Amino acid sequence: MKIIDILSKKNMSLSFEVFPPKKESSFDNVVKVTEEIAACKPAFMSVTYGAGGGTSRYTLDIAKNIEEKYDVPTLAHLTCVSSSHAMVEEKIDKMKEMGIENVMALRGDLTPELEKTDPNTWDYKHAVELVRELKEAGDFCIGAACYPEVHPDSPNQKEDLIHIKEKVDAGADFLTTQMVFDNNLFFNFLYKIRELGVTVPIIPGIMPITNANQVERAIKLSGSFMPQRFKSIVDYFGDDPDAMKQAGIAYATDQIIDLYANGITNVHVYSMNKPDVAKTILSNVSDILGKDFNR
Ligand code: FAD
Repeated sequence: MKIIDILSKKNMSLSFEVFPPKKESSFDNVVKVTEEIAACKPAFMSVTYGAGGGTSRYTLDIAKNIEEKYDVPTLAHLTCVSSSHAMVEEKIDKMKEMGIENVMALRGDLTPELEKTDPNTWDYKHAVELVRELKEAGDFCIGAACYPEVHPDSPNQKEDLIHIKEKVDAGADFLTTQMVFDNNLFFNFLYKIRELGVTVPIIPGIMPITNANQVERAIKLSGSFMPQRFKSIVDYFGDDPDAMKQAGIAYATDQIIDLYANGITNVHVYSMNKPDVAKTILSNVSDILGKDFNR
């Protein structure tokens, strides 16, 4: 099933993100946790892609397994900046062969090694090139990333918004945001991107922070703003793992409910291979979503 068809429906939905293993020995364990999340029947599940290639070969296997065993649509991520045209073509052929319909087209982060080389020698500089290639290659439903707090490489929001629009004009069917901890930043972004004429669905990404160590990593990775209300939770409960987990899930739930209450129908949760977190969040909003919440 194409994700754009799920997003076009009027009912509220929740989707989850999982990531593939870094090494083969963890593969079975990752399959197990992704299956536990799939058993909750979210609207769809996204499976990330290791930009350096390390975990990339498992993305498609995990996505396909979820679809086949649980009938949950999946979104396979694909990055391009560290790849050659031949590598990307091979991946696209593999996706077609496996019947993968939904692809998240990403640039990937620039590694320190890559940054030392001349960009003119790279086959891909930006995600928009991958969006174009996917659009030409087949009948894929294509997602792309967007940044309510501006991508760190961008000189300003105006330029960032222009490049997000380029991805939509090139064929991206929907956008998913970087994690936000303050919904107002998402609503401000939504207003600005709609003003530019971008009409595709935009899914806010919510990251439940369930332990204090995650905070630093999440900020480093995303550059996202942490509201004082959230910092107080970490300060007060950070040393008590159970309390921190409960408070982090409650905070994420509160954000999700606020998004639904303001007319946002689809929310993506960075559930990070944690079935207990996914299940608790789903249970927290079960009456809000209703029985027929997923598809
Ligand atoms: P782009 O759209 O290429 O944007 C990158 C920067 O270049 C931005 O500053 C943009 O404004 C600028 N830019 C874009 N086009 C142009 C242009 N034509 N000219 C000049 N400047 C331009 N990373 C992974 O490795 N694996 C994953 O699975 C993964 N999943 C993600 C999912 C989501 C929802 C998000 C938000 C991010 C994800 N990332 C993932 C991280 C992502 O790869 C990085 O944030 C990366 O730095 C940018 O990727 P992008 O696709 O947004 O790039």
